[in-house]
Amino acid sequence: MTTDCSTTSTLLHLECGICSKKYDSEQLINMCSDCSRPLLARYDLKKAAETLTAESFSSRPPSLWRYEEVLPVRRKENVISLGEGWTKLHLAKRLGKEIGCENTYIKDESTNATGSFKARGLTMAVSRALELGAKELSIPSAGNAGGAMSAYAAAAGLKSHVFMPKDVPMLFQVECKELGADVTLVDGLINDCGAKAKEGVKEFGWFDVSTLKEPYRLEGKKTMGYEIAEQMSWTLPDVIIYPTGGGTGLVGMWKAFSELEEMGLITSKRPRMVCVQSTGCAPIVRAFQEGAKHATLWEGAATLADGLRVPVAVGDFLILQALRDSGGTALAVTDQEMIDFTRVMGRNTGIFPAPEGAACLAAQVRLLKDGWIKPHESVVLFNTGSGLKYAHVYV
Ligand SMILES: *Cc1c(COP(=O)(O)O)cnc(C)c1O
Repeated sequence: MTTDCSTTSTLLHLECGICSKKYDSEQLINMCSDCSRPLLARYDLKKAAETLTAESFSSRPPSLWRYEEVLPVRRKENVISLGEGWTKLHLAKRLGKEIGCENTYIKDESTNATGSFKARGLTMAVSRALELGAKELSIPSAGNAGGAMSAYAAAAGLKSHVFMPKDVPMLFQVECKELGADVTLVDGLINDCGAKAKEGVKEFGWFDVSTLKEPYRLEGKKTMGYEIAEQMSWTLPDVIIYPTGGGTGLVGMWKAFSELEEMGLITSKRPRMVCVQSTGCAPIVRAFQEGAKHATLWEGAATLADGLRVPVAVGDFLILQALRDSGGTALAVTDQEMIDFTRVMGRNTGIFPAPEGAACLAAQVRLLKDGWIKPHESVVLFNTGSGLKYAHVYV
């Protein structure tokens, strides 16, 4: 094959988020073998900066693949794309007036393939798994991740196995099955599903694409940080509010901002990062308040926001570090608040958010009331998925 099929990726190697041990990137690998913690992709940012310039973007594709230099896929034929990223950043004028914060923006992730921002992570993980020779993929999922993985695996022609809690809403199961995944229902929570999936990994050699347990979902999700910077003309908002489960998006954006600064595209000014969770499952909020470095398991996790039903996150220390380094905060909202604020967002913007998206608005309103956010500040809310998948919550 000719070099024409190569991408402009400047990926160098992988590095443990705790001990900084380096790993060769051209192998199928999950986590650091010493720490059992996430591996982070490192790039030749000097080289990337030569072509990834503000002027270069007018001719780039309207998808997250516009940031090719800082993405890990080496060969174009391995890019599995269904339409992901480059989502709208709406200035929500009427909503902003209503809540007394005129510079309120919504990054609307509901328009991604499979209706949530999980597409960003899984386009990258599946493309890279294909590139590195994986044949079958597995994932534990309580909601949108399973559907996104099933879709990208189907597009790539790879077999996929999804492990879901047995009380997962019907639609999430149906989506995976119709996309050709082998679905197993597990009596337990997402971490129990993870344990089940692990058995298949051991026995059959499936590749595990659990969030932050392989290096590339993070790389897909970090593009949200690139997009916000680009869409705000290479500046960043005062505050970003993010509904946090495994925290991949929050950690990813934080990584993106460092990369962007190193490439000279933005200054050192950072947004205050806010983590929102549900009062029924808030391990990161608890750890943040206690000043802990790691979070402990949240017993009896229960919330209608499936994306937030994550009782333990392997990237907990990275989330907490980003919150603290940014001068941010963490707070929990109730399921009822999510339901109430779905309507507030819907009626004032035309966006039907997932409950996780509504949680961001509930958090913003509380932080405005507390004076933590000032009325003149710019705030980006993440609507991480479509409300359509959660109709069961609202009927
Ligand atoms: C998965 C998910 C989340 C949580 O995302 P993380 O990056 O894992 O924290 C939030 N909202 C929705 C709709 C999700 O599907």
